[in-house]
Amino acid sequence: MRGVLVRLTDAWTEILRRRAANSATGSYPLPVQNMLGEMVAAATLMQSNIKFNGSLILQVLGDGPVKLAVVEVQADFGLRATATVTGDVPLEASLSQMINVSNQGKCAITLDPQTRFPGQQPYQGVVPLVGDAREKLEKLSDVLEHYMLQSEQLDTTLVLAADDKVATGLLIQRLPLEGVGNLAGSRLSLAHEDEIGSNEHYKRIALLASTLKREELLTLDADTILRRLFWEEKLLRFAPLAGDSAPHFSCTCSRERVSRMILGLGADEAQSIISERGEIEVGCDFCGAHYRFDPIDVARLFRVPGDLPPSSETVQ
Ligand SMILES: [Zn+2]
Repeated sequence: MRGVLVRLTDAWTEILRRRAANSATGSYPLPVQNMLGEMVAAATLMQSNIKFNGSLILQVLGDGPVKLAVVEVQADFGLRATATVTGDVPLEASLSQMINVSNQGKCAITLDPQTRFPGQQPYQGVVPLVGDAREKLEKLSDVLEHYMLQSEQLDTTLVLAADDKVATGLLIQRLPLEGVGNLAGSRLSLAHEDEIGSNEHYKRIALLASTLKREELLTLDADTILRRLFWEEKLLRFAPLAGDSAPHFSCTCSRERVSRMILGLGADEAQSIISERGEIEVGCDFCGAHYRFDPIDVARLFRVPGDLPPSSETVQ
C-alpha cells in the first residue's frame, strides 16, 4: 500500500485571494470554493502519485451553474486553478446541483508531457459524474476513485476536504503484487484484479482511511492524522516536500502565449477587434493578469518577415 497526504495552505489561499481580487468575477460561492479546493488537493495527490513529467490537468465540465472547473499541477508542483460560474449557486448546493444537473457533467484528467514528439497528443481519460446505475455521484472522491480504477487498474481510496484556508486530501492506493515499475498504468490480468478486490490488507487500510472525517482532515496536522488512523500499522514515512519542492501557486500564462493566441485568431479577426475596441485585452482566469495589445502591437505580431511587401529597391 502506498499513501499520500497533502495539506495546502499558502498555495490554496493564494488562488482564493487572486479570485477575490478579480473585479470581473469576485470570490467563489462557498460550495464552489470547497469543490475547487478538493480538486486542487486531488490533482496534487494524483501528480505526486504518478510522478508525471509534465502537467496533470483535472477538469470538471459541468452542465449546471458551474460550467468548468480546472486545476493544473506541473511536475514541480507549481499549481493553478479556476472555475467558471455562470449561474446562482445555493449555499447548500451539492456537487450534482453545481455541475451535473442533467447527467451531462464529465470529469477529465489530462496528462500533458513536458516535451512532445511532433504530432503527439496529450493523454486524456474521461469519466462521467454518475455511477454504474446512472446514480448521480455527490462526492468528487468517488468520481476520481472510479477513474483511478479504470486507468491504472489499482484500487484507490481518496478522502478530500477544503475550506477557505486549507485544501487537503489523503490517497491510499493498493500496489500491484509484482514489480515496482508498474505504477504508471500497466495493465494487470483479470486474475490480479480479483486478487486486488479481495485483498484483506487493502480493505482494512482503506476502511481506516475512509473513517477520516472532513473536520479532522481540515484541522489536524499530518502526524496526528496518521497516528489516529494507522497507529496499529507498520508505517514507513517519507520526508514531506518542503521549501521550493513543495506545492506552490504558479501560473504559466505569459505575453508570448497570449501573442500566439492572437495569431491563432488570424489577422482579420484581430483587426476587427482593434477597430471595435481600440485594443485587444486578454485576462488570465487563473492569476488575474491582464495583457493589452494596442494596434501597433497587433500589427507587429502579424508582420512576419517573409510576408513583407517588396520594398522599392526590389526588382519588379
Ligand atoms: Zn495567469
